[in-house]
Amino acid sequence: EPTGGSPIRVVLLGANGVGKKSFASIFAGASDGMDSEDCELYGGERMLTIEVDGETATIILLNTWDTEDEWALEHSMQTGDAYLLLYSITDRASFLRASELRITLRRHRPAQHTPIILVGNKCDLVRCREVSVSEGRACAAVFDCKFIETSAAMQHNVWEAFHGIVRQLRLRRDSK
Ligand code: GDP
Repeated sequence: EPTGGSPIRVVLLGANGVGKKSFASIFAGASDGMDSEDCELYGGERMLTIEVDGETATIILLNTWDTEDEWALEHSMQTGDAYLLLYSITDRASFLRASELRITLRRHRPAQHTPIILVGNKCDLVRCREVSVSEGRACAAVFDCKFIETSAAMQHNVWEAFHGIVRQLRLRRDSK
């Protein structure tokens, strides 16, 4: 088996302005400094090998920033291996949008089989917070997914979110 197994196609979903492009540029920034063995362009998408718990994993980040485009959205819901479902903790409407997207995703993908992490981004903007940590956590529990708060601006917990995806896929693999 090749190092890290087959690439994991990760999709970023969420309302406009929640931080998807910011996540993608952190991902791209990490791959920029790497040699070609660790980072390749895979059909125009960025591919990056990272180490999680002492084992490598390869991630391809799918470009689906525009979730208003129904076709692109449907397509991403069929082609991803795992999903980061983003909202902004400063924008309640984006939190509601994340719930809608979770419901749409459940229709496309059986819940137990697809790793999904609900990501409350912009946690650096404490004074503008509209969604509490406990609301985020409760929502994730209802929707049967993991939860993390991040700040793309401060580069806080962004890699933890990717690591969480890898860990969930390994748990699934190891329980087979
Ligand atoms: P997208 O529409 O989901 O791709 O969102 P963007 O990544 O373009 O982010 C929208 C705006 O929010 C930009 O001005 C970002 O700089 C800003 N932004 C993204 N993440 C954070 C964050 O964690 N904290 C703060 N303060 N701003 C952020």
